[in-house]
Amino acid sequence: MSNSEWNIHIDGEFSDEELQYRANLLEKVPDASRDADGLISCPTLFLRDTLVFPRMVAPLHIGRETTRTAIEKAAANNQTMIALVQIDPQMERPGENDFLNVGIEMAVSEIVTLPDGSHAVLVQARRRVEIIRIYQENGSFFAQASIVDDSTPDQNEYRPLIRGALRSYERYIDLSPNIPDEAFEYVTGISDPGWLADMVAATMDLPLAEQHALVVNLDGEQRLDYVQKLLANEVGALELEEEIHSKVQKEAERGQRETYLREQMRAIQDELGEGDPWMKELEELHTKLRKTKLPKEVKDAGMKELRRLGQMPPMSPEVGVIRTYLDWILELPWSKCSEDNLDVQNASKVLDERHFGLPKAKDRILEYIAVRSLRPKNNRQPILCFVGPPGTGKTSLGRSIAAALGREFVRLSLGGVRDEAEVRGHRRTYIGALPGRILQTMRRAGTLNPLFFLDEIDKLGSDMRGDPSSALLEVLDPEQNDAFSDHYLEMPYDLSKVMFITTANSRNDIPWALLDRLEVIEFPGYIEEEKLEISRRFLIQRQLEENGLGESEIQFSEAALKAIVREYTYEAGVRNLEREIGRVCRKVARLKAEGKRFPSRIDVKSVEKYLGPPQFTNTQAESEDEVGVATAVAWTEAGGDIMPIEVLLMEGKGNMQITGNIGDIMEESGQAALSYLKSRANDLGIKMDVFESTDVHIHIPEGAVPKDGPSAGITLATAIISAFTGRAVRMDVGMTGEVTLRGRVLPVGGVREKVLAAHRAGLKTFILPERNTKDLVDVPKKALTELKIVPVERMAQVLDVALVEKKKPAASRTANAKPSAKTSGKGKTSPLQPGV
Ligand code: ADP
Repeated sequence: MSNSEWNIHIDGEFSDEELQYRANLLEKVPDASRDADGLISCPTLFLRDTLVFPRMVAPLHIGRETTRTAIEKAAANNQTMIALVQIDPQMERPGENDFLNVGIEMAVSEIVTLPDGSHAVLVQARRRVEIIRIYQENGSFFAQASIVDDSTPDQNEYRPLIRGALRSYERYIDLSPNIPDEAFEYVTGISDPGWLADMVAATMDLPLAEQHALVVNLDGEQRLDYVQKLLANEVGALELEEEIHSKVQKEAERGQRETYLREQMRAIQDELGEGDPWMKELEELHTKLRKTKLPKEVKDAGMKELRRLGQMPPMSPEVGVIRTYLDWILELPWSKCSEDNLDVQNASKVLDERHFGLPKAKDRILEYIAVRSLRPKNNRQPILCFVGPPGTGKTSLGRSIAAALGREFVRLSLGGVRDEAEVRGHRRTYIGALPGRILQTMRRAGTLNPLFFLDEIDKLGSDMRGDPSSALLEVLDPEQNDAFSDHYLEMPYDLSKVMFITTANSRNDIPWALLDRLEVIEFPGYIEEEKLEISRRFLIQRQLEENGLGESEIQFSEAALKAIVREYTYEAGVRNLEREIGRVCRKVARLKAEGKRFPSRIDVKSVEKYLGPPQFTNTQAESEDEVGVATAVAWTEAGGDIMPIEVLLMEGKGNMQITGNIGDIMEESGQAALSYLKSRANDLGIKMDVFESTDVHIHIPEGAVPKDGPSAGITLATAIISAFTGRAVRMDVGMTGEVTLRGRVLPVGGVREKVLAAHRAGLKTFILPERNTKDLVDVPKKALTELKIVPVERMAQVLDVALVEKKKPAASRTANAKPSAKTSGKGKTSPLQPGV
């Protein structure tokens, strides 16, 4: 056979003649002869991205001219060659360090010229060799190498390993579409683990790095172990692939079957003269579209979609998508408006009937209605934002406004909305796409001018999926909300007639761009009297009704209501109060239903009987003055709360630690307070060396609640100074304020909530930064008469009020003093943020 008759397919297919030749290539080319040291020296071939494992035959393209000369040289001498494996296959001119340290000795056929003019050889690999050195001679590369004998003498020992590998390999062949089943027959007779590993690896489509790892591994057993792991991985992946494939196949078959059955059904219905249900459906849709009052461009768009629908086979998956879209167009309110009742007096009556107090909010709403009645077309009124703790009547007032105006009321909670698509919807190209929540809510409203309540605007999130607040800006902006764009609808939608009211628990968390557009109306917390009034006028009545009890069937005594307010609820609003009243009513309702005797008057005793032991026994401030404990009043989302701060002095080295789940700002506040004390040590009668030998531990109880902000500054300073001077802090004094290093007291936020919290907790005196006194206008008079407010500008004034005059023995609050701050057992969940 002459070379020119060869027909090498580089993709690995050989003609019969080639296969025959392949079998005896090695026999034709003898072993390289060894020198005195037992080493062989041969011309080299470079293997880039194809690896030929020992005993394999493969065609190789010849790219480089030097390779060609080397092959010719070897052929002329009837000599084997050493294939060096390039570590980086991309490298054009590898140096001697750019090869694996193990190469392959191989027999090489004569060079064949392929039809496209390129050259190739057939090689048969013999065995691994360890490369000793690579050198150049007359421009060709040579390698000196030692022969590796990796065959294993006792092959019985490896039987289990081999059997395992064969089993995996068989499964692998089963699952891989590209490997012929005969491949397994080739390997079944092999009893040498290394050889088996090489054979199997050669047929697997392994990444180059794995192939390299196998070439350099000279231990046959390890190699087979490794190959078996690779097989297991591959089998896992292929099994998964097959599972998915068969699932898809099943789905497709089911789809086809359904289509077929439906076609048959249509044919049968036709035959029976029942008409085509699909045509009927289309006609119905057409009539609906024609009859519904829609703006022209909406109708046109709908008709266009309907035409597309008509051209589709009824079984096409797109049918559902278009039908849903048409449904949306048909169901959204496009022009239907409710008539506004702009009678201010009526509105005032409705609001007063349903709500106690809230004068500011009510006034503002009435002004809104008044302006509206004078300029009905004016859509440019500011958007109101009701800000206040939960249960202070924001939502219920919203409902009442809607009732007064005669508008639909809808509500959308923005809490946790982090994705712009939630506001604006997804494009129809997405499977299962729907309009955004704004339009979904409008559909629910059914009119173009509902009162639209956007709840929890301060809980709006934002992340990489886009900022929902920018979409909301568009919703709330009267300049552009007459053409709100929703991704799903793909048509402008008019939101300009909607009356939006937003709500938030905390003004500080509202995205500032939104806050800019909003007119904030505060819903302060209620004082006890207000709560009692609200329950007497509204809550009890409602709960009686809801629990099927007659209007005057039971009555709550004043003391019972007070007990519920004080001992069973701890909140700024009245939501829990209503819940607890409801609980009492339920118990009574049950007695009544069971035909048992039930009390007609609920007193403190029956409250305890029905609601169990009081839950908030510690909400009242302590009566005992203590050293090292001062009471801060903090702002929380639920209104406000008192927060005892404890300071303990221990023998030590002047370190300070502050614990209780506090933030950086509060920690710095503690440092500042300590520094202030040191600077005033002389005046306060503390010796400087005390600081060096004392460790200060500040703790703010209820460690699970995160706390931060600067407004506990004066309280921290007071507690520390008390601990160092041994002067007790009046426990009926609460305070808030930031302190500077020079002892100036700076204003803070959330004053109204804090004053109410102090009042609720039964404190008698409240120390407040002078510059905060302007915030007291909103505080109910009753709270201000019962709580003495002391405005201060300097820390010294704080100490004058807060510390007890009579000195106790110095440093009485040391390590073995019992921690005395009584933490309240309130089940609060919202973080304390004294630093607003
Ligand atoms: P928010 O929306 O502020 O969390 P809600 O409006 O849901 O609070 O109020 C909770 C409950 O308290 C409602 O049942 C509401 O009727 C009642 N409520 C709150 N404030 C008042 C009030 N000033 N007058 C009458 N009921 C009130």
